[in-house]
Amino acid sequence: MNDQLNRYLFDNVHVRGELVQVSNTYKEIIESHNYPAPVNHILGQLLAATSMMTALLKFEGDIAVQIQGEGPVPMIVVNGNDQQELRGVANVTGEVTTSNLSELFTKGYMVITITPSQGERYQGIVGLDKDTIGECLEVYFEQSEQLKTHFWLRANDENAAGMMIQALPEESDNDEDGYYNLRQLSDTIKDEELFELEADVILNRLYHQEDVRIFDPQSLSFKCTCSVERSAGAIMAVGREEAESIIADEGAITMHCDYCNTKYEFVADDVALLFSDPKESNEKLH
Ligand SMILES: [Zn+2]
Repeated sequence: MNDQLNRYLFDNVHVRGELVQVSNTYKEIIESHNYPAPVNHILGQLLAATSMMTALLKFEGDIAVQIQGEGPVPMIVVNGNDQQELRGVANVTGEVTTSNLSELFTKGYMVITITPSQGERYQGIVGLDKDTIGECLEVYFEQSEQLKTHFWLRANDENAAGMMIQALPEESDNDEDGYYNLRQLSDTIKDEELFELEADVILNRLYHQEDVRIFDPQSLSFKCTCSVERSAGAIMAVGREEAESIIADEGAITMHCDYCNTKYEFVADDVALLFSDPKESNEKLH
């Protein structure tokens, strides 16, 4: 089954929903690292959440959902864009013996950064003081958009998936009952169903009494934004003198992408090219 994001609307209540299955992307990310299982599971849940959140954007751009804390996992982050290209990384510095959020991320908080391709960056911060990531995100939506939202985020060693429903702004009292009704129906989903069944089978099973309008699904993929050009740009930003002194000391400038484990190495000739005529260096780098 391919990784897919499905969006849908309910005809009789002002509620929208999303269902995402992200297992291949998830496997690709966790296989290139060696994180403890609880860290993988959080990455999987964040992948599902980030995918669904980027699908809510009304513009081109990307979202980073990051958790920071003072426990054994100081940082974990997932980035996604409107093309549903996702990547994620964690920083694990201590022994992980629990999956409890408040112990993994002592004094933890969640930073949601929305970066439109054009326009102002927006950042929202919520405390990591609930039992689940989904509940923390619900607080975020309540605070930032005053929208009632509920998440179901699931991940095990192999799979990651999620669902959400969100009451739309034009909600009336009548819709509130409808929203809670949909929430109860959605609560009956089992993890294996969410991981293994096709989206339309799941939606039919959960909401067969509702009128659901399903949009065309969108494919998801793992994609890192690192590149030779970006690494070269970073070297040019530190300046010729600094770059040459690193080469003199270490023989090469090595840059490592923590997201995808790619190593970029620049030797003396490469650095000389970078600081020569820009046109020429671009040609040679490609
Ligand atoms: Zn990378």
